Amino acid sequence: MQLSIEITWWVCPVCGITYGGPKVFTDNGRWEMGTMYCPNGHAFHKGWPHVDVLQTQLENAEQRRCTAEETTRMAEATNVALRGVITKLKRRLKK
Ligand SMILES: [Zn+2]
Repeated sequence: MQLSIEITWWVCPVCGITYGGPKVFTDNGRWEMGTMYCPNGHAFHKGWPHVDVLQTQLENAEQRRCTAEETTRMAEATNVALRGVITKLKRRLKK
């Protein structure tokens, strides 16, 4: 016999520990009482985002960081190109 339990993950907002619990907790019972406890005994409430929400936020932040880095790289490349043009123009003026 195989037993499969769907696990939901939470992050404790106090100590940051990640822990899982059967999904039934979120569907009925404990979760509905409004308060959850992390293994270290910190209480937190229903509205706290699940790990997948935090994961999405992290991915979005990561993506924004990549875009910013890309922009910086492009700006640097443009800078180098412009410097080359300026050097060429200066040489031409000296002649
Ligand atoms: Zn905790």
